[in-house]
Amino acid sequence: MAWDLKVGELKESYVTEDMIWQRLNYFFFDAKTTTSYKYGFFKALLENLYVMDEERNLHYDYLFYDFTKIYWNLVVHHQLWQSNAKSQYSSIQRILEDVQIEHTIPKNWRFDQLPVSLQQEIVQNIKKAGKQYVIGAFYGDVDGLFYRFHLKDESLQMNPPVLQFLKKYQRLITNLTNYQLAKFLEKYNPDFTQMLIRVEQVSQRENLKEFRELLQTACGATCFYCGKTSKKTLHVDHFIPWFYVQNDKLWNFVLACASCNTRKNKRVPSQHYVKALLLQNQQVQQQVRMDYFYAYQPEKLEELYQFAISNGCKVWL
Ligand SMILES: [Zn+2]
Repeated sequence: MAWDLKVGELKESYVTEDMIWQRLNYFFFDAKTTTSYKYGFFKALLENLYVMDEERNLHYDYLFYDFTKIYWNLVVHHQLWQSNAKSQYSSIQRILEDVQIEHTIPKNWRFDQLPVSLQQEIVQNIKKAGKQYVIGAFYGDVDGLFYRFHLKDESLQMNPPVLQFLKKYQRLITNLTNYQLAKFLEKYNPDFTQMLIRVEQVSQRENLKEFRELLQTACGATCFYCGKTSKKTLHVDHFIPWFYVQNDKLWNFVLACASCNTRKNKRVPSQHYVKALLLQNQQVQQQVRMDYFYAYQPEKLEELYQFAISNGCKVWL
């Protein structure tokens, strides 16, 4: 049993793509699942591939922020049962339902609508449960190839070839994870329709107002693409489209007029806009709290751009 491991060293540092596919196939199709946790955890990990420091450490606060967001939206917003037995509450579901009742939070609220201090409090509680039940379990399913961890630490460390692999196949693997999570939830929540769509959208925020205000203060109310100043509300655009990155980082946001935003749709802008965004980030970085740019590097944005294209994002302009 691996779920109660406190420490996991990397089993191999030399890992081929075949070995990784083999472990992923085992994880997706044969590993034992009594709750949805491992899928939710892997989904959160995939949302954080570009939030690691130079040593490829992923801080638990970032990982479990996204894990908590996913579970809040599944459990409270969608009211979905998370274990494989009706008599057996999963502890994460219990924690979240208790918070919702205690603070009388409307059930339709998404995680990003909660007050920031409450979000942080919930993340710390879920982090405790996640450390206990998920990090070792997932580590065991992938045979110790993906990361090393010590529960005393505040981060796990990714195996370099595995991190590259996950970036290279990010879109396929994200979709597979969504599919398996939806399949699990569908089995134990038979009355719900459109489970896959719910899962695919579970990480989406209610709104991006916070980012609009920061960008408008730092860059003014002009469209990043056409340069026009707009009196109307500008859209907050994911430079690398959301469907691909599945996260909301300030360094991947630009302001866009309605017309540019609609025309760009789910595509990436052409290469010269990458340079413009690197400049914008330089400027914004000086004016906001440091954690908005945690682990950001210009090279990371360039790498993300290249991987987005090789993962099938079309180019606009
Ligand atoms: Zn425009």
